[in-house]
Amino acid sequence: MNPKPCDAIVIGAGMGGLTVAALLARKGRKILLLEKEGQVGGYVVSFKRGGYTFDATGTFLGGCQEGGEFYQILREIDAHEAIEFIPIHHIRNIYPGFEISLKQGGFSSYADALMDLFPEEEKGLKDYLSLVKRIGDEIRSYSGMTLTKRILFPFYFRNLIRLHRTTHQTILDKLFRGGEIKMALHTLPATEPPSRLSFLLVAALINKALMEGVFYPRGGMGKVSRVMADSFLNSGGEISLNTKVDQILMKDGRPIGVLTEEGRVFEAPLVISNVNPNLLMKMLPPEFQRPLLKKAGRFEYSLSSFILYVATDLNLNQMGLPYFTYLRALSDLEEEYRMMRRSEIPKNPTLIVSVPTLLDPSLAPNGQHIVKILVVAPYPYGEEWGKQGPGKRQQIKEEFSRQILIQLESKLIPDLRNHLLFYEAATPLTLERYTGNELGAMYGLASIPEQIGHLRPSHQTSIPGLFQVGHYTRPSHGIVGVSLSGLFAARSILRQMHKSRELKKR
Ligand SMILES: Cc1cc2nc3c(=O)[nH]c(=O)nc-3n(C[C@H](O)[C@H](O)[C@H](O)COP(=O)(O)OP(=O)(O)OC[C@H]3O[C@@H](n4cnc5c(N)ncnc54)[C@H](O)[C@@H]3O)c2cc1C
Repeated sequence: MNPKPCDAIVIGAGMGGLTVAALLARKGRKILLLEKEGQVGGYVVSFKRGGYTFDATGTFLGGCQEGGEFYQILREIDAHEAIEFIPIHHIRNIYPGFEISLKQGGFSSYADALMDLFPEEEKGLKDYLSLVKRIGDEIRSYSGMTLTKRILFPFYFRNLIRLHRTTHQTILDKLFRGGEIKMALHTLPATEPPSRLSFLLVAALINKALMEGVFYPRGGMGKVSRVMADSFLNSGGEISLNTKVDQILMKDGRPIGVLTEEGRVFEAPLVISNVNPNLLMKMLPPEFQRPLLKKAGRFEYSLSSFILYVATDLNLNQMGLPYFTYLRALSDLEEEYRMMRRSEIPKNPTLIVSVPTLLDPSLAPNGQHIVKILVVAPYPYGEEWGKQGPGKRQQIKEEFSRQILIQLESKLIPDLRNHLLFYEAATPLTLERYTGNELGAMYGLASIPEQIGHLRPSHQTSIPGLFQVGHYTRPSHGIVGVSLSGLFAARSILRQMHKSRELKKR
């Protein structure tokens, strides 16, 4: 039993769990954060191998500039000065037959580059950008919802209503003639192809992240979660690592605590889950599972990924490599996605390459670089990445790593294999094992029109006293998206706590 009584228990210290815990603790609530791993962060962690510090998953995050959405959250928990965000300017997107390389500026310079490359598409591009901007204005206006706007909803939020079922493909086909510009505009942090990805999500991503710029935290991505955990602890919060929650204990239709795998009981009148909805459901007694079962069965998940972590003594600075390279060999985005859904991966898959040491040389010994290569991948590949045994698992990892290194060497970093100091890979099984994400889903729920915004599960579940945060909930996936889920959940929990205190006083 927990020695000190607490106001709420948070299951899982991903960015969603950390945010809600830190915000509630800041407001004086007693919060206990239980994490099954030996460190906080979920997907947002760094790991060390010798002198190298690798980011396990993410490459960048948005909203870190003063006034940005993530900056405001960090400010609210007094962590904004504990971390330095380095703006990412230098990017290169390589497509079959053309490329876009930027040294400065965000999405607007990307759009200018597209205008230069495809002058015949100028009108379509202007219309696209204007539509994206209008949606951005509506999203901003929605966050500051007033009674007038609520009453005149269809007038104020015309595009959000009109386009809520629209995919990116529909808009691309309406505004553009050529396939190349469509492909360049669909270079986004999402695993869905144009025919499935929600256009409202595209507009939100462009407005929020790409137009405002993206950043890399000095010290590596893991620094972000460590800073949040420090703020939580400084506000009196408690973290129990290596503590896997097995059951949520219920009484009179409400949670009263949790039972861990080791048989320890922690009590609290409120439970906040940062785990995937299937895991959450299994933690509940059977009578509470039934109503959730139907909903959970309908969810569609994002794809997973294969990640290769490399160290080299090549002078990547001198080679002019940017921090971020998107390397695409296939022009048919839809076919690549269909292959993945058939559990196949193309011979030359799209590579997302980042070189963190170009921004923060302290992540590797002097004169050396670390490189991370990410490939979107299905969970069921090669008999589930060799799930049947360690030998098979290692063989599949090795074959896939070799294939990626050859592709990288021929397209981006010549002679890489002669200058390899280290490499290691993570498969969808690794992602699933460390974080409990459903089939290693990299972005939680797929961002299809049926699963965006208010159509995503809300933070208050159908069970009073049970909340959820993270990338299976509102508003979206990504580090900033899930931190916002933590912010929204914290606000709603504080309102409920305040109300029940007022009622008790009477
Ligand atoms: C390869 C990859 C690249 C990405 N790149 C980016 C990027 O560049 N930028 C970006 O913004 N986003 C990126 N994302 C997405 C982003 O990382 C996620 O959307 C986000 O971090 C998910 O956070 P979450 O709070 O939902 O929890 P998760 O990170 O899924 O964490 C859940 C936590 O719950 C814990 N847990 C699970 N079960 C239990 C249990 N029973 N008891 C206790 N604890 C438990 C887990 O151990 C974990 O710590 C990437 C994701 C991946 C996989």
